[in-house]
Amino acid sequence: VLVDVGSGFGDSNDQLEAGLDSVRQDFGEAVSWEEISHVIISHGHIDHYGGLQFVREKTQAKIGIHELDLRVLIQYEERLMDIARRLREFLIDAGVQDHSREELMSLYLLHKQLFHGVSVDFTFHPLNMQLGPIRLIHVPGHCPGQVLLKVDDILLAGDHVLEHISPHQAPESLSKNTGLGHYLDSLRIARREASRVRITLSGHGKPIHDLSARVDAILQLHYDRLGEIQKLLSKPMTIAQVSEALFGEPDGYHALLALEETGAHIEYLHQRGYLRVDNKGDLEKDVRKPFFYIMEDDRQELEGIVNSHNPQVD
Ligand SMILES: [Zn+2]
Ligand SMILES: [Zn+2]
Repeated sequence: VLVDVGSGFGDSNDQLEAGLDSVRQDFGEAVSWEEISHVIISHGHIDHYGGLQFVREKTQAKIGIHELDLRVLIQYEERLMDIARRLREFLIDAGVQDHSREELMSLYLLHKQLFHGVSVDFTFHPLNMQLGPIRLIHVPGHCPGQVLLKVDDILLAGDHVLEHISPHQAPESLSKNTGLGHYLDSLRIARREASRVRITLSGHGKPIHDLSARVDAILQLHYDRLGEIQKLLSKPMTIAQVSEALFGEPDGYHALLALEETGAHIEYLHQRGYLRVDNKGDLEKDVRKPFFYIMEDDRQELEGIVNSHNPQVD
């Protein structure tokens, strides 16, 4: 079973071949494209499925993905159009200026328009989330259809838990079953598995040897970020302004990632009544005005959030 296929860009396909070589030579396993029976896509992000067109030509293996990311593969163009519309709307609401908004939109679409939909052979629920010895665990948040794959005491984590960075978050307004709330819930699922996991292999970065410590560090990072945002929003600010205060002005695609990350945190706080919109009157008059958020007066305390999500308590 091959898990994830890389982006298909640059030397990604060569690296995939080099990976198979390494399994043959360094581990003495007789793998080849003909031997692979299944390809599992851990989640519907292009750096994990973009190589599918190449892989399809190499092998007859059946391709599987979680139901909630199925559309990403089989209705690729429709979904890209759909999400691009939502993204543009998000950037307007976030207060990103017209010229940088269109720049970000073209960056977003740049490589994605090179990919075309592919067919999928199976999804996971009809298999009862089990493929031979591999148990599939649904952990929505970073992506709607993100799954963990557990084989004995080894966990393949996709992008749910990464060793060197906190996995990217985007607001659920862009795509259902993403958003920080779903992600934090899913981190708890990973932590429940942790006592039976010896080594975690993620989609990026080095192996993780202490999964629960890594999960707790990521949880803590998000609570700290939520607290920081609450402090900033003692005066009204847009998502773009908060993003700049948190992350500065990153270049290129990173600017979009920073806005989405900030948007996910503000959405989380707003949805739970910690924030309110400060310029309701303006928004009623003009749909293209950005949202200004401010702390809700009687919910100044972050404590509510910290206590209800205390990393030490399941
Ligand atoms: Zn991802
Ligand atoms: Zn990734």
